[in-house]
Amino acid sequence: MKTQQQIIEASEKYLMKTYGRFPVALVHGDGCRVFDADGKSYIDFLAGIAVNGLGHGHPALLHAIEEQSRKLLHVSNFYHIEPQAELARLLVEHSFADKVFFCNSGAEANEAAIKLARKAAKDRGEPDRFEIITMTQSFHGRTLAALTATGQEKFHKGFEPLVPGFRYIPFNDIPAAEKAVNGKTCAVMVEPVQGEGGVNVPGPDYLHALREICDKRGALLIFDEVQCGMGRTGRLFACEHFGVWPDIMTLAKSLGGGVPIGAMLARDEAAKSFSPGTHASTFGGNPLSCAAGIAVMKTLLATGFMENVTARSDYFQERLLKLKKAHPVIRNVRALGLMVGMELTVDGAPVVKACMEKGFLINCTNGNVLRFLPPLIIRNEEIDLLVEALDEIFQAGDFA
Ligand SMILES: *Cc1c(COP(=O)(O)O)cnc(C)c1O
Repeated sequence: MKTQQQIIEASEKYLMKTYGRFPVALVHGDGCRVFDADGKSYIDFLAGIAVNGLGHGHPALLHAIEEQSRKLLHVSNFYHIEPQAELARLLVEHSFADKVFFCNSGAEANEAAIKLARKAAKDRGEPDRFEIITMTQSFHGRTLAALTATGQEKFHKGFEPLVPGFRYIPFNDIPAAEKAVNGKTCAVMVEPVQGEGGVNVPGPDYLHALREICDKRGALLIFDEVQCGMGRTGRLFACEHFGVWPDIMTLAKSLGGGVPIGAMLARDEAAKSFSPGTHASTFGGNPLSCAAGIAVMKTLLATGFMENVTARSDYFQERLLKLKKAHPVIRNVRALGLMVGMELTVDGAPVVKACMEKGFLINCTNGNVLRFLPPLIIRNEEIDLLVEALDEIFQAGDFA
């Protein structure tokens, strides 16, 4: 086995520098823990950025992958694929959607959503209705249209010209949406809870207002649930908290529990615009990734699973709010389910580093928001350990 240093050296030498990586090589995982090549253990409060919803090495997921890999790894979408049809059925039966398109990532799911929204407008005889309205502080992925949809200039820089036909309005601002959505708008695209933008939970009426505005003006409503979907918020889909369904919804991250898969769900009204030849993906919905998706879905839907997410969320928030009372450096705590953000008055990067030294993987987004996205199977004891570590770090105060 290679040492941590050897892995890091090869990584530095041969990989493009697209990531600012920590000097750690993770080689093994078990439940909510991961281990580096030197054998150091970490409690995983990032879960691959909301990917490992079932933690590491979940028996149902392992079993599904193992069984499917013996049967069939891949065939072309020229043929019918049983696990693909079964995963689509599960998603349809537990959502607003009539049809599903499978791909391999969040960005691809959003590309598919953008293409479908535009095509649906054309098919309705409205060729000039092509604009997509998205939100500032949003994140929709790194491919060119998804990048353009992302309402954060720092991600756009250097990649211009971007895709035409996108407009940005502030998140959680109903009057701004009233003003912006018009006869040229083919869709409004929004994360029900913004992830990369700093764990921003909208007001209780926001999504409902977007739904009404879209209906009134003839635009489609797209929810990007790539991060907040698949049980992360204590409901299968985050939008269920707000009692609003979109016309199109995208999923990825946790859908395969660690196996790459993305999905774009839609009502028939829109979905019928995708006919043979309009959109496709070689790997999209392959038997292996769909078998993983089925195992994830069935686990989430099992009795008590989601209730547990909510209970752990309540406990986690209670502990963090107590921590906030003791440390003025904590500006506020925001959460929906196990999508948890803690905004600091200072840069969060040194705190992330200090946590790592103490054996906890966390993340900082938007500069000063510590983000916690633990596996949905996290327990109170693990939450206690993290909160104690944070307490010590803030107590020491050498992070600022
Ligand atoms: C991560 C993320 C994406 C992009 O997903 P990739 O799989 O990295 O392409 C899109 N939207 C949201 C909300 C995300 O969090």
